[in-house]
Amino acid sequence: MTDCLFCKIIAGQIPGAIVYQNERLVAFKDIKAQAPMHVLIVPRRHIASLNALQSGDDGLVGEMVRRAAALASEAGYAERGYRTVFNCNADAGQTVFHIHLHVLAGRTLTWPPG
Ligand code: 5GP
Ligand code: ZN
Repeated sequence: MTDCLFCKIIAGQIPGAIVYQNERLVAFKDIKAQAPMHVLIVPRRHIASLNALQSGDDGLVGEMVRRAAALASEAGYAERGYRTVFNCNADAGQTVFHIHLHVLAGRTLTWPPG
């Protein structure tokens, strides 16, 4: 989608600190990190929100979650722990309408979230 911020990062049209990519996914550092590790994992294909997911996307979403675990583990946070978050629509605070899995680690994260 031409006016989507994350599609532009995926296409290399605007810079992103990419930490992992393959044929289906790109992971890059959040520009406003909320923890020492704050990475966003996004599918290359534009999907606006979790509400737009279809059954054919189950493998893609599973790969996003498994990549989150791998990136957290590679950064040394497997044992300490980390948080993964998908925000969906206004009440959850979604601001970029291209699905992304937040991966946060490196500090004690409070619960419940705000
Ligand atoms: P949401 O609020 O939609 O769940 O998360 C969007 C995230 O994208 C936010 O954490 C925000 O800091 C991040 N973000 C917004 N603009 C940019 C940008 O231009 N580059 C990067 N790397 N992250 C961004
Ligand atoms: Zn997009």
